[in-house]
Amino acid sequence: MRKDVIYVDNNATTRVADEVLQEMLPFLTDYYGNASSMHTFGGQVRTYIDAARQHLAALLGAAPGEVIFTSCGTESDNAAIMSAIDNLPARRKIVTSKVEHPAVLGMCKTLQQKGYHVEYVPVNAKGKLCFDALEKMVDDETAIVSVMWANNETGNIYPVAKLAEIAHQHGALFHTDAVQAVGKVPIDLAKTRIDFLSLSGHKLHAPKGIGALYVRHGTPFSQFLIGGHQEFGLRAGTENVAGIVALGKAAELAGAHLDEENTRVAAMRDYLEKGLLSTCPNARVNGNPEGRLPNTTNISFEFIEGESILLLLNQHDIAASSGSACTSGSLEPSHVLRAMGVPYTAAHGSIRFSLSRYNRMDEMDTIIAKLPPIIRRLREISPYGRTSG
Ligand code: PLP
Repeated sequence: MRKDVIYVDNNATTRVADEVLQEMLPFLTDYYGNASSMHTFGGQVRTYIDAARQHLAALLGAAPGEVIFTSCGTESDNAAIMSAIDNLPARRKIVTSKVEHPAVLGMCKTLQQKGYHVEYVPVNAKGKLCFDALEKMVDDETAIVSVMWANNETGNIYPVAKLAEIAHQHGALFHTDAVQAVGKVPIDLAKTRIDFLSLSGHKLHAPKGIGALYVRHGTPFSQFLIGGHQEFGLRAGTENVAGIVALGKAAELAGAHLDEENTRVAAMRDYLEKGLLSTCPNARVNGNPEGRLPNTTNISFEFIEGESILLLLNQHDIAASSGSACTSGSLEPSHVLRAMGVPYTAAHGSIRFSLSRYNRMDEMDTIIAKLPPIIRRLREISPYGRTSG
């Protein structure tokens, strides 16, 4: 196990907080009972599930009865959209954005193949949502509007409270994928008309395999997983007690660290970004610096491949991520950067740095020292780079 890695890929996943691990361990060893059992040994774990639900609800500004535990962000996204179309059968339209995570886009594509009409709201060069387009798309045919709270690649934050109002003006439901937002920005659902919110434990220092879906009181909901009566009869499957307890603790810690996320973490991100932009020519930030997550920066190093940069960073034990995805053997720029119209030569060389409260300033100095020579070296061997510095 490598301990010395500089980990700046926290939008991919986060390390489990020590406090979270301690809290969940007894539920994998001593308290392994089934919460639905009649006997005390099993039934006693119910109290811990209830406490975790309260902690998570507090972080979201929700009532505990509005929080359903799921297995991950993807399940929550899928469940919200499926539930909306199930409950509003006369409405055959879904409105979403071009920059959603595949958990939403994939579900929309599947529904399109089944005959639903899906409209994708475009974004501008900074990744900001084209509001006028969205207002024209949402109508009385729309069952659900689904727009993410924050983008996983650029960190861009979307005005979801306002979008929920627009959806409701047309009798549609509103879902937000807040997988990247929870724990990084303040959330107070009681002050909004958001119907559904998805989140995932492994993005906020809980383990993988636990997520949650917020369903507003009064919003119609049909269960996605059908079987037993767990989770108020809304999500079947024996409760992942250790995961639920972990998410509850992670939510409690996230609330306590929210200020730090927006001060110390944001300052480290800004320092890193400034350091790289001032030492690497032909580098540009993708996204909207005026409205993005405190931990994320997405930088394009023009005329070189992001994958090559990552491999060389990896040799220095620096773990970041690229904005490109490998599709059928060819390296395609990400759908997010393409939707923003980022030029091909820049989209290919994009790197996402996503920090957490476990990062330190000296790690940023190391990245600022190691990366510019990598960029220079790659440009020297790139057919485009030699002419462009
Ligand atoms: N939505 C967003 C914005 C994400 O970043 C992710 C994970 O990367 C997901 C959904 C999927 O979450 P999970 O990995 O818990 O299924």
